[in-house]
Amino acid sequence: MRLFNTLTRTEETFVPADGKTVRMYSCGLTVYARGHIGNFRTFLSLDVLRRALRHQEGYGMRHVMNFTDVDDKTINASAQAGMSLLEYTDRYVQAFRDDCATLGLEPVEESPRATDEANLRAMADMIGQLTARGHTYESNGSTYFRIATLAEYGKLARLDHEGIQAGARVDSDTYTKQDSRDFVLWKATKEGEPTWDYGCGPGRPGWHIECSAMALRLLGEGPIDIHGGGIDLVFPHHENEIAQAEGATGRQFARFWVHVEFLNLDHEKMSKSLGNVYTVQDILDRGFRASALRYLLISVHYRKQLTFSFDILAQADAALTRVTDFLARVDGVTGGEAHPVVADRVARARADFRERIASDLNVPGALGVMFELLREMNAGIDQGNVGHADAALIREAFDEFDKVVGVMGLRRAEELAPPIPEEEILALIEDRKQARRIRKFAKADDIRKNLEARGVILEDSATGTRWKRK
Ligand code: AMP
Ligand code: ZN
Repeated sequence: MRLFNTLTRTEETFVPADGKTVRMYSCGLTVYARGHIGNFRTFLSLDVLRRALRHQEGYGMRHVMNFTDVDDKTINASAQAGMSLLEYTDRYVQAFRDDCATLGLEPVEESPRATDEANLRAMADMIGQLTARGHTYESNGSTYFRIATLAEYGKLARLDHEGIQAGARVDSDTYTKQDSRDFVLWKATKEGEPTWDYGCGPGRPGWHIECSAMALRLLGEGPIDIHGGGIDLVFPHHENEIAQAEGATGRQFARFWVHVEFLNLDHEKMSKSLGNVYTVQDILDRGFRASALRYLLISVHYRKQLTFSFDILAQADAALTRVTDFLARVDGVTGGEAHPVVADRVARARADFRERIASDLNVPGALGVMFELLREMNAGIDQGNVGHADAALIREAFDEFDKVVGVMGLRRAEELAPPIPEEEILALIEDRKQARRIRKFAKADDIRKNLEARGVILEDSATGTRWKRK
């Protein structure tokens, strides 16, 4: 498989260092609010990457994606809500898990929280190693990384030492630094903030140290195979992660760096701070299915920007419906002999699809291959040139495509799910039973009609009432 590596700015052949299991880290959500669909563009692209590595390339995966549950944003938001940091961030950890399931993301092997004790200890230990190697200084109780001690600083972002500016996410706090480019590793306690002491003095970790420490604690010594995230993390976050991990261990941190481009809205990056965000729930509330959103967010190459609109979401939905309608048609082919040309054509499409994916995750190209096959096979069915055995091969090919893109199975699951939550249906069946018992037949009938309008039909029998989809 070939992957574009931000570190070298070239597409390179990727093989895990041990030839078998990919050790991958991706920066997860800062859990001070519900993730927005821009965040999910990044998470979905990395999900397609892990699916490709597992199901297509046949590697094992050890994928860590963290929760940033302590930083200025989570601390301020929890204080405003009058909740403890843990209680507050828990809500968004759970919401994130729900959204991931809704969008069909494969569960990752590890999803650590920065504030887990073992992780905080690993951060403090890494700071200790950095100190032993002369990369830190202390000022007003906080510990800083001295950039001037690392000649290679800037190699990922390709910045020269002098040119580094204080960017949007550069730590622009009020702590005293000796050089404005230095960054904080451990922040001294401030009034009213959560605080820990594992050897760096009372305080809390800086954002960057969280990821370096958790990655190496959970994946083992560097270099790990792949590190990923959104493009905005290249500088300073990932540059600083490299400085910390490599400064502390003297070993390369990550071999491949994968960065996903922005999802925009109205020509601006979708971001919580700009306020131009939609959550997954917002999309569902407008009557769209999560499978359509997944399809849209993966359908543009991950290194190109994508501008969100409800029009293109509707187009994505229509494209996916075309696929599922086609598959229903294929399932309806029950007779007829096998045609070797169909088998050849399907085998070629499978090879082409794999080739597109292996070429730096060219999902749009792979979907193009899939639709070309769909078009030709639809014509074949029209002409009676697709037999039962051919249909099975077509189905197999689409199942293989879906292991990587994950949209058709998601759509099927949505279609099987009750149109409204089952507990609600059962509660209404009970209300109706009560109404009938006390001879309020008009009320009972209203319940039945309401459910029918929402896609649920009730069937009464001697043993009780059952529901089915309309
Ligand atoms: P955060 O919660 O801000 O730490 O972001 C979580 C992930 O979402 C990071 O990998 C970000 O780079 C990524 N991200 C944030 N906004 C966008 C966007 N508009 N498009 C794509 N990725 C984004
Ligand atoms: Zn990170």
